[in-house]
Amino acid sequence: MAIYYYVNKQAGYNDNHVVHAYGCKYRPSLQDRLFLGSFYTPTAAIQQARKYYPGALGCDNCCPVTVKKNLNVQHSVGLKHMVSL
Ligand SMILES: [Zn+2]
Repeated sequence: MAIYYYVNKQAGYNDNHVVHAYGCKYRPSLQDRLFLGSFYTPTAAIQQARKYYPGALGCDNCCPVTVKKNLNVQHSVGLKHMVSL
């Protein structure tokens, strides 16, 4: 069953935008979130979010940690570069 997903318009540390599922208690307020659509997996939602925000990551609470790990690997070079600046 597909779930609604949102991405936070406000960037967190390292310019990350966190993706949340519908009903997550950490979901941003209405004016701070962008509706992504309905997806069957958090991975699909995060991939959609990355079309808007390349640094999009899954929320620890509502998206599986394995997804976040994969994205961290893909972004590790970019993030290290940003930190070194
Ligand atoms: Zn969440």
